[in-house]
Amino acid sequence: MIPCSHPPLESAEWQKELASAFGNAGELLRHLGLEHRLQPDILEAAKQFPLRVTRHFASLMRQGDPDDPLLRQVLPLAAELSEAPGFVIDPVGDNLADCGDGILQKYHGRALVIATGACAIHCRYCFRRHFAYQERSARGQEWEALVDNLAAHPALTEVILSGGDPLTLSDRRLGQLLAALQRLPGLRRLRLHSRLPVVLPSRITEDLVALLEDNPWSVSLVIHANHPNELNRDTARALDPLRRAGITLLNQSVLLRGINDQESVLRDLSEALFDMGVLPYYLHLLDPVKGAAHFAVGRSAGRSLIAALRRQLPGYLVPRLVMEEPGSSEKTPL
Ligand SMILES: *Cc1c(COP(=O)(O)O)cnc(C)c1O
Ligand code: SF4
Repeated sequence: MIPCSHPPLESAEWQKELASAFGNAGELLRHLGLEHRLQPDILEAAKQFPLRVTRHFASLMRQGDPDDPLLRQVLPLAAELSEAPGFVIDPVGDNLADCGDGILQKYHGRALVIATGACAIHCRYCFRRHFAYQERSARGQEWEALVDNLAAHPALTEVILSGGDPLTLSDRRLGQLLAALQRLPGLRRLRLHSRLPVVLPSRITEDLVALLEDNPWSVSLVIHANHPNELNRDTARALDPLRRAGITLLNQSVLLRGINDQESVLRDLSEALFDMGVLPYYLHLLDPVKGAAHFAVGRSAGRSLIAALRRQLPGYLVPRLVMEEPGSSEKTPL
């Protein structure tokens, strides 16, 4: 008997890995030898936005270090429970730009599609931590209806698949979406915003690369890493076939207090990214989302960091420092 290598009902390797992600603080802290750090307020904060982190991302954290820059991005803290003036539920005005069907159109020529609400990791600073994904994401609806809606947007040249994380969709679902997008005559560029190459590199399979390669548009992938420790040989190995397939690779980071608000960290990040064929694109000032005030870095501190990077790196390795303002027609450069 010839064994079937891809039994149809079995999930892919990456899907199994995704399913085995840490889903509670006790388990993660035990894994890191930090079980004594499990405080009741951690559990309280996790009720508002559950802890979630892949085994791969956790494997990049230092054992026994409560200040590890990767751990700090995912561990719920008491600080999230305190109110801070100006830190709100919808800091970027997504509710204003919602066109229905999970489409956000704020910027000229580009429509952002919330292809799914799911993420492989829950970043504590995320502006979508309060987002009503259940009602808003396109998942569960027919992609055809979504594309009908997109077709009604004049002058659309780029579709951005975002979320959540669009690469948490199965190849089959993603393939159906890309097929439906073929109906948009003016579309020239397809962009994906995904953290999976960083937090679940096994997601980048040959089949996925083929899917992204096999279409008529210029394709770019914007990954999301904040600290050089997030990148290792697995990341490089995942990104390499994408690069060979002609996909433009960019990175966006969020400027986070105590995590990457140091010149040396940002410099090492840019260099590590470029070693893997990725250009730094944006460094976002934190969106003032409720529960994330303890991560905020001010504008002037951000500007000084960028000035310092400019003195040390070639221009193409210096990300653009930007912030998002509700109602604005572009990201605001600082
Ligand atoms: C960030 C963003 C974009 C993309 O902006 P670029 O400057 O082209 O990277 C598009 N739509 C929305 C709603 C966004 O938030
Ligand atoms: S949308 Fe991005 S930043 Fe937000 S939780 Fe998901 S992976 Fe993290």
